[in-house]
Amino acid sequence: MGTKGREIIGKDVDKILEMLGKAFSDEWLAYYQYWIGAKVVKGKMAGQVIAELEEHAGDELRHAGMLADRILQLGGKPPLKPEDWYKMTNCGYEAPDDPSSKAILEQNIKGEQCAIDAYTKLLEFVKDKDPITYFMVQEILKDEVEHEDDLETLLEEI
Ligand code: FE
Ligand code: FE
Ligand code: MG
Repeated sequence: MGTKGREIIGKDVDKILEMLGKAFSDEWLAYYQYWIGAKVVKGKMAGQVIAELEEHAGDELRHAGMLADRILQLGGKPPLKPEDWYKMTNCGYEAPDDPSSKAILEQNIKGEQCAIDAYTKLLEFVKDKDPITYFMVQEILKDEVEHEDDLETLLEEI
């Protein structure tokens, strides 16, 4: 933990840590939803859909890493048990019970839209409070906006 780095944020640091822990939980669930989706998907354009889902899975895992690093830097503790992800998530998890490429794309679009909302709120909260987290969340949000667009473009072609 960076003592001065934590101090400059002031009284809101615990609230920020809570929001980062929730986002971390979302990222792991999103990672798994993409990862398992890429394994089970079938139907129209399955090859292209698999490539996109795998790419997004990698991005979500990278986001989880960024969030964990920032949580630790602020003296917090990332959720240590997968069961905590379910308790803390904003966006939840949707199992790919219907493995058609259309259904899987729709589920993941919904997830991205929730992520965009959640990160927009986080960005708003840390603005003028925590420039490091602000910059990091901006980078993540940029990826989520791209993810939604990529999936919607694929869905239009199906
Ligand atoms: Fe993400
Ligand atoms: Fe995403
Ligand atoms: Mg993409």
